[in-house]
Amino acid sequence: MPLTPSLFIVPTPIGNLGDITLRALEVLKKVDLVLAEDTRKSGLLLKHFGISQSMQSFHNFNEHRKVAQLIEKMHKGEKMALISDAGTPGISDPGFLLVRECLKNDIPIECLPGPTAFIPALVKSGFSLDRFVFEGFLPHKKGRLSRLQKLNQDERTMVFYESPHRLIKTLKQLAEHLGPERRASVSRELTKIHEQTITSCLKDIITYYSEHKVRGEFVIVVEGKKTK
Ligand code: SAM
Repeated sequence: MPLTPSLFIVPTPIGNLGDITLRALEVLKKVDLVLAEDTRKSGLLLKHFGISQSMQSFHNFNEHRKVAQLIEKMHKGEKMALISDAGTPGISDPGFLLVRECLKNDIPIECLPGPTAFIPALVKSGFSLDRFVFEGFLPHKKGRLSRLQKLNQDERTMVFYESPHRLIKTLKQLAEHLGPERRASVSRELTKIHEQTITSCLKDIITYYSEHKVRGEFVIVVEGKKTK
């Protein structure tokens, strides 16, 4: 396969290593440099697939400093692949800034399709998929309440990412603003051994998680406001 673009956005598994795509492996092997959120973690992933590659770290804390130098290298013909710790770069992960700067500088980009946590959670929820909104992580402080208030009238299915230690707080605030009877679906540890999805009203999901250990990674999907 000829490697035409300069920057490849390469999704990596969100748990099950079997979810890597053939094209992801091929691109990771062939590029000149892999940009990784965490070179140690991604080094293990590449090693698992027998790939030995030059790697550089590219994360939220150094992306602003690094972007100009990377663009210059791509202008000179270097091919790069961007990966994050898990899933699709740019989806609640670094990526946006580099993509925007590549576009500004006429550097061709290709984004490979592949794993991302919100799609399986959304599809498993059983809620309408005609229209949905990806909310990612709610802001921790500033803007959190106004975001929740705006969502109150939203008729689209909503998707949130959440960490285990904020799960109950977020579920309680969703119940407060959207109503305790609003239906939701919480998917945990997608593609992993302990994968589990609970679909019920927010009130019951809160009760469940108040009685069970909150462990792992979570996607919350909430049904949109029903129109009568
Ligand atoms: N780039 C990733 C993607 O494409 O989904 C998301 C990265 S974000 C930093 C991490 C969040 O994604 C977690 O806090 C969780 O909300 C969600 N997530 C990632 N892997 C997951 C999994 N296996 N099961 C459930 N949620 C997951």
